[in-house]
Amino acid sequence: MMPDPVQIGDLSERVIRANDKPVMPEGDYVLVVLHRALRWADNPVLEAAIAHAHALDIRILVYSELDENNPHASDRLFYFVLGAWRSLAIDLANHNIQCIQTIRSTNDELNNNAPDALRAAISLAAAVYADEDPTHWDRARQQRLLEIATQAVFWVDASRLVPVQQLPAGLETTPAFRKAHGALRDRYAEWRKQTAEDIAELVPKVKKSPMSRDRYDFADYSDEALARHVSKCKIDHSITVSVEHPPTQATIKARINTLKTDILTRYKWIRNNPALEHSTSQLSPYLHFGMLSPHQLYAEIESLDVPKSYTWKFRDEFLTWREWSHYRAFHVPNLHEFESLPEAAQQTLLTHANDPRPEQVSFEDVLKGNTLDLTWNAAQKEWLNTGWLHNNLRMYWAKQILRFTDSPQAAWKTACYLNDHLSLDGRDPATYASMHWAFGNAKRGYSERPIYGWVAPKSDRAILKRKGMSEWIEARQ
Ligand SMILES: Cc1cc2nc3c(=O)[nH]c(=O)nc-3n(C[C@H](O)[C@H](O)[C@H](O)COP(=O)(O)OP(=O)(O)OC[C@H]3O[C@@H](n4cnc5c(N)ncnc54)[C@H](O)[C@@H]3O)c2cc1C
Repeated sequence: MMPDPVQIGDLSERVIRANDKPVMPEGDYVLVVLHRALRWADNPVLEAAIAHAHALDIRILVYSELDENNPHASDRLFYFVLGAWRSLAIDLANHNIQCIQTIRSTNDELNNNAPDALRAAISLAAAVYADEDPTHWDRARQQRLLEIATQAVFWVDASRLVPVQQLPAGLETTPAFRKAHGALRDRYAEWRKQTAEDIAELVPKVKKSPMSRDRYDFADYSDEALARHVSKCKIDHSITVSVEHPPTQATIKARINTLKTDILTRYKWIRNNPALEHSTSQLSPYLHFGMLSPHQLYAEIESLDVPKSYTWKFRDEFLTWREWSHYRAFHVPNLHEFESLPEAAQQTLLTHANDPRPEQVSFEDVLKGNTLDLTWNAAQKEWLNTGWLHNNLRMYWAKQILRFTDSPQAAWKTACYLNDHLSLDGRDPATYASMHWAFGNAKRGYSERPIYGWVAPKSDRAILKRKGMSEWIEARQ
């Protein structure tokens, strides 16, 4: 009998068996399939596989893929992911671990491995480990993996400070979640640190990979070579690479530094002004793609020598609101659909579905930010051009789409599509949980209004009063 994963530290609560297939005794390696935990450090998926490979005395192989057929495949998304892959491939090579990073493409020149590289990689694996996330995108990828695998598959919770499955089911409100989650934070943070240290000692003892000269990874690619590679894919080239948010570990380091020196202790007061150069961390793309783990960020915040009350608001956004959205997506699999909204919100929006919409414009005008609303246009152009938008503007942005489209369902679809297509951090649990808020899963409005019914609307009055905002909007017309 081959052993199951070694139960080390918090891995025993992060690793879940996904099927009842056996570990293959003749397997060449333990396969790690990484979709979103794209980092070497503090990565429970890699750690669990390392522990298992060590127990089996075989090597590990890390696999990641991008698919041209993803409906949101664009230069922006592909370049960012390839950049994350590049850092990961360098770190893995430094630890004698081989990886395969492949684009499923109709262009033979790019399809730098077998036509179905995942199937090929799985066929030689003793067992498979993959990161587990709860959106419908992640679930579809996980389902494909389960359909191919004939051996044991394990999901690993690598994206949250507190593993989502360790929280009690049935938490219905943010305060209830905050209480349950808050009680477990320090325990998981401490446990994670200890586990990562224990596994680090195992790494040199794991069988080394033969580092073949025909490497299928992006370790040696320059920025220009990555951009050239992306330009050859059959994807949406109109959504361009984000120069503002480069996919590098150096950027993450710099942003954490700015967060600690310029933002954190003032966050509560400055976080709502998009015109400030540094009002929030701008770390969401890096958290979304797992280039940075929540434990790493938590440790950075905890290392600041200031009273906890100074950092409470940031911790609440980053830990309560972020992980609450993961919890919601885990327990509500169709969170991305209009039909998942509370009955009362759907009802009131549908009651007003036939209200006149004098500000309705074409999808093309919405996409390009050509409406009669200058604040909205500026927000949309920022998102379209840079791939990131400030939270305060996202709140305004999402609510207005009801005015520009011909029905509540069309508004929901348009808002989710634009968020997913343009935003580096899109396709995330926070995308759909936030849309829920915008479309009425929140305190209802003070009165019933055209188009919105009882869903609370949002005006730009407060936004326009913030220092520098008029200029910010003007600069983006
Ligand atoms: C309509 C709408 C759509 C949104 N879509 C997304 C999305 O696609 N992806 C996404 O990650 N976030 C989304 N958010 C939440 C929030 O706007 C972003 O997480 C935040 O703006 C990211 O900027 P930051 O990294 O500077 O955040 P900071 O304020 O520096 O916070 C640090 C981290 O905490 C998390 N966080 C902060 N605020 C929230 C929040 N309200 N909900 C959940 N997590 C939060 C993020 O991971 C963020 O990186 C959306 C919000 C709204 C209102």
